[in-house]
Amino acid sequence: MHVFLSLGGNLGNTQEIFERCYPMIENKVGPILKQSSLYRTAAWGLTEQADFINQVILIESDLRPEEILTEIQAIEQALGRERKITWGPRTLDLDILFIDQQIIRTADLQIPHPHIQDRKFILIPMQEIAGTYEHPVFNKTMIQLLQETNDETAVNLIPNP
Ligand code: AMP
Repeated sequence: MHVFLSLGGNLGNTQEIFERCYPMIENKVGPILKQSSLYRTAAWGLTEQADFINQVILIESDLRPEEILTEIQAIEQALGRERKITWGPRTLDLDILFIDQQIIRTADLQIPHPHIQDRKFILIPMQEIAGTYEHPVFNKTMIQLLQETNDETAVNLIPNP
């Protein structure tokens, strides 16, 4: 299965935390096939906090969806995620965006992730690595969803060193 994951963080050295999470994802979930650039995003929700760094990656995985969720939550914990307030700072936030064209709506797991269309920090890196990928609920590509989103948050490419 093809799994798109979103990575985000705004506490500590986020780029270093991302570097540490890639091998953990590869060991526990599956090989990384594609990786977007890193993007800097003004904090969403609570705005009085540090900017976030965001990225989207594509993984090949044989795990069941609930197993993927369990594994990414363990990785978040292992990398010292600390979150006291909703939408407050966090060291590492991992979300499952898509699993192939599956639609899952349970209490613990919503696939596609319900906010993809409202978040440029997801749509811009998705467009970079899979612009023509079709959202299985809206039947629109990432390019189309990005053109239509109401999100006006600035999302800036972080140049490669
Ligand atoms: P958050 O920490 O804000 O990312 O939210 C984590 C909670 O969201 C967990 O308890 C999950 O059960 C739930 N959840 C629902 N859908 C997803 C998804 N697609 N990816 C990650 N977490 C999800």
